[in-house]
Amino acid sequence: MKIGKTCVGCAQCATFCKTDAIKVKGKALIMDVCIECGICAEYCPMKAIEVSI
Ligand code: SF4
Ligand code: SF4
Repeated sequence: MKIGKTCVGCAQCATFCKTDAIKVKGKALIMDVCIECGICAEYCPMKAIEVSI
């Protein structure tokens, strides 16, 4: 997964991540435990998350 420039750091994506792979410090950061499920991308209001697979 890749976080794009439109991320506003709202942390909504993090609340839906099953593996707790998203940390938000101003902007979202994806950790190595991400399983590329794509759920966070569906819930991002800014469409800032790009699925990389
Ligand atoms: S939901 Fe979208 S805009 Fe909000 S922190 Fe996550 S990536 Fe950024
Ligand atoms: S793709 Fe799935 S596991 Fe990875 S950060 Fe998004 S919700 Fe979490």
